[in-house]
Amino acid sequence: MALSEREAGVATASTRRGNGRHRLATQVGLVVVMITIVLSGFFYTNRHQQALIDLREGGRQMRIAQEALMGAEAYVLNRALGDRDTEYSEYSRAFESLHSRRDTHLARLDPFLRMPDGTSTSADASIKSLEAIWTDALELVRAGRLEAAQSLLKERRSAALIGTMRRAFDAFLADWNSHFADHETRIEIGKSIVLLSQILIAGIMIFAFRSSARDAQARATAIADMDASRTQIGHLFEMTDMLQSATDHHDANAVLRATAGELIGGFSGALYVFNNSRDRLVLSTSWACEDGSPPPEVIAINQCWAMKRGKPHINRSGSRALCCEHHASGLAALEIPMVARGENLGLLQVFAQGSGAEERLAAILPLSSALGDAMSLALSNIALREKLRNQALRDPLTGLYNRRYMEDSLDRYVRIAEREGRKVSVIMIDLDHFKRLNDEHGHATGDAVLREAAAAIVGALRETDVACRYGGEEMIVFLPDCSLEDAALKAEQIRERIEALSGGHGAKVSASLGVSSLPSTSSNSADLVKAADTALYRAKHGGRNQVAVAPVQSGWRADREGPASPQAHLRVAAG
Ligand code: GH3
Ligand code: MG
Ligand code: MG
Repeated sequence: MALSEREAGVATASTRRGNGRHRLATQVGLVVVMITIVLSGFFYTNRHQQALIDLREGGRQMRIAQEALMGAEAYVLNRALGDRDTEYSEYSRAFESLHSRRDTHLARLDPFLRMPDGTSTSADASIKSLEAIWTDALELVRAGRLEAAQSLLKERRSAALIGTMRRAFDAFLADWNSHFADHETRIEIGKSIVLLSQILIAGIMIFAFRSSARDAQARATAIADMDASRTQIGHLFEMTDMLQSATDHHDANAVLRATAGELIGGFSGALYVFNNSRDRLVLSTSWACEDGSPPPEVIAINQCWAMKRGKPHINRSGSRALCCEHHASGLAALEIPMVARGENLGLLQVFAQGSGAEERLAAILPLSSALGDAMSLALSNIALREKLRNQALRDPLTGLYNRRYMEDSLDRYVRIAEREGRKVSVIMIDLDHFKRLNDEHGHATGDAVLREAAAAIVGALRETDVACRYGGEEMIVFLPDCSLEDAALKAEQIRERIEALSGGHGAKVSASLGVSSLPSTSSNSADLVKAADTALYRAKHGGRNQVAVAPVQSGWRADREGPASPQAHLRVAAG
């Protein structure tokens, strides 16, 4: 049946409205699909970038270990061939470096370690065998029996073991490199997917909206949305790039504040990270918050829904129902728990105010999650870097700073003291008859005594004092702003504390100590250590278990040190 003109007009108008709705739905659908694809591409790329950073660090650590092993071998071979000039400290440093990487990195060599006879071994066992062979060989070298040392090295096949280790390092690094290339390819693929999907969807949109003049507006809006989304992704990529270079929380927070302003402008926010004991979240940074209502300094984890559920949570404004206890009711807050490498790292909060605040927060959830994700990885990297740095600076057995740190920092301390006209003292500590203690009670007891002696030393010091393991059972302490007299008293306290360890393992424990000070006994860092060492030698010769103080330099006025002579109260060897 033919339609009347009016009926036909109504039908055309309703078809147009239907088409309009259909197009709008298509436009919204496409924008959602685009954002989803682009964000997935971002997360994918980000994950592989992270893996790449981990690989780079792992490879670097392994190369350091490889160099240390080759350095130690060179030292032993040179000594066995009669070279007396090579430094023992290089050798002991090489082993410090190997031991500190034994569990964290060298264990990864195990699958690659095959002996020439086909049997497998572990990096730990190989390093222990090499250390045992080399210790015996060096004993022979010290006794002047070079030929015996050379034949011992041959007999116990240290070269074969080193060859096996070398092959394992090469195989490991080759395998590592192949993973490296794989992640790089995946990052490129991720970036290409993001770019391609943007171009593709732009094409589809232009095609979908090209038909009528009225669609021009929708087309412009869609293109503007797409541009905005591309800009946002650009900010996110830029943020992850910047975060990779962030060396501490201060840097990372600055990047977060700048990116949050660009990416989710118009919202305020705050970042919380765990305290040291991991029982509370403490405010790390905040942005755009009003002066009158700063975010709380501390949040209890068991009062936060997002942390308890491990999922994003929205606290509504003006309502207490299902809100975290720390929530300020005048604001709506989106809370995102931050997790990286399976570890909880903190909480990201984004605040909004006024009508529709909850809906606006819900709309920026994907972007805020991306922000939180990038920041979580940065925090996790900073924590990892801190851990590795500590491993490189600390002696694994005693937890004291290692010799490398001592050598690097002593000069600095001395220069500061000289420039500012202040004093700095050194105490050199050597456990008495430690070889005998090891022989009679075993190496494990020796290790335990060393650890306890280190703790006893640290317990006697101020926070600004620095205790280092100088090598073997010898330790050194720097005391900034401390006169010779005060250092001698401190040394006596340390001596008493170490003597008090006696009996704990059924063994007598004691130490001899040498004290020196700048400017009263020495004029530079090398002299300072030498003077403490010489004083220590005197304490040993004076019968051990005592403190000896380095002689005051001629021309140094004793009255500038204070009234009492350091020797007055102490069991000391004559100066
Ligand atoms: P002195 O009183 O003259 O200092 O005698 P000493 O036996 O302490 O000195 P010596 O230098 O002859 O021996 C030091 C010993 O310390 C030899 C070595 O086995 C032991 N030692 C060095 N480092 C460690 C370690 O990390 N653990 C254990 N258990 N022993 C160690
Ligand atoms: Mg000793
Ligand atoms: Mg010694």
